[in-house]
Amino acid sequence: MTTVAAYAAPAAKAPLERTTIERRAVREFDVLIDIKFAGICHTDIHQAREGWGKATFPMVPGHEIAGVVAEVGPGVTTFQVGDRVGVGCLVDSCRECDSCKAGLEQHCTGGAVETYNAIGKDGEITYGGYSTHVVVDENFVVRIPDGLSLDVAAPLLCAGITTYSPLKQWGAGPGKKIAVVGLGGLGHIGVKIAHALGAEVTVLSQSLRKQDDGRKLGADHYYTTSDRATFKKLAGTFDLIISTVSAPLNFSAYLGLLRAGGALVNVGAPEEPVSLQLFALIGGNKILAGSMIGGIAETQEMLDFCAEHGIGAEIERIAASEINEAYERVLTSDVRYRFVIDTSTI
Ligand code: NAP
Ligand code: ZN
Repeated sequence: MTTVAAYAAPAAKAPLERTTIERRAVREFDVLIDIKFAGICHTDIHQAREGWGKATFPMVPGHEIAGVVAEVGPGVTTFQVGDRVGVGCLVDSCRECDSCKAGLEQHCTGGAVETYNAIGKDGEITYGGYSTHVVVDENFVVRIPDGLSLDVAAPLLCAGITTYSPLKQWGAGPGKKIAVVGLGGLGHIGVKIAHALGAEVTVLSQSLRKQDDGRKLGADHYYTTSDRATFKKLAGTFDLIISTVSAPLNFSAYLGLLRAGGALVNVGAPEEPVSLQLFALIGGNKILAGSMIGGIAETQEMLDFCAEHGIGAEIERIAASEINEAYERVLTSDVRYRFVIDTSTI
């Protein structure tokens, strides 16, 4: 065991503060990572405030981890000391169920182990990336291509894969009209990826404040959802809508923006349930689906795609002492477009 510095929430809704945690000794197939940057995902805020139900404290959030390999176990074959690597939302799974065999570790029926606020297969609580070091099995570590700086790559480990996976699954590409709802951490990367895939991209945001940014990110169109006329004008338009909204949304209204047979894929994870007018689904044979991150192999594919297309997150680099302030800004949709913690400041 090694004692390392971290930022933790001592209790639900309490401000995060500096602390120390124990990281396990490197085992046969483990990689010790010297964390350089950790993104702040809205999920960290839901979790640290116990918005999704009972959580374990102290909690060290962070599942957008970018760093450099500092040590490898004797059985490790994929990585060497000095490699640039990332870790996302998962650090283990059963590796035997149909989902794991299909590369969908996030749906492991034996229980995928999340990067923090979870219990590992060894019975120990997992602690995330707001820390200086982490020890992870090599099968849950991905390579960050040379073309990507570690700071702008970190958010790809969650926000990148969470938008890339449904865009690929639901056929985003040339000739397809895609809308991204919510221009935050996930949304802004979703716009970049959808644009790089060749789709015609529309941002649907609460206001027009970020319109110029949206176009620079690759959006062809930008509308505010606070104007009811938007829903009339765009009725029946989209092949695919990806909602990244962290709060309850009127999905019935957004379904009206799909063409017949189109799909609305929700990745946002609000703390309260939503209601749905089922006629909005029946008329036009529409599809309402969900999507949860992506598997490890697809995460590597996404990183390679992003490197090839020059896609990194738009970030505000912060010191660890600014985490609580950053949380407040994320909660008021005042994020441009991902906060990334420089872990050397922990
Ligand atoms: P974020 O940076 O806060 O972005 C969310 C965006 O949603 C905001 O920037 C805002 O965009 C919009 N929004 C916020 N409140 C709204 C409201 N009341 N009505 C309408 N729009 C609103 O958050 P994030 O990190 O991208 O995460 C988004 C959600 O996805 C969170 O719930 C998170 O837990 C979830 N998530 C899910 C997965 C998954 O695997 N499915 C993975 C990661 C995260 P505008 O200002 O442009 O309107
Ligand atoms: Zn996340």
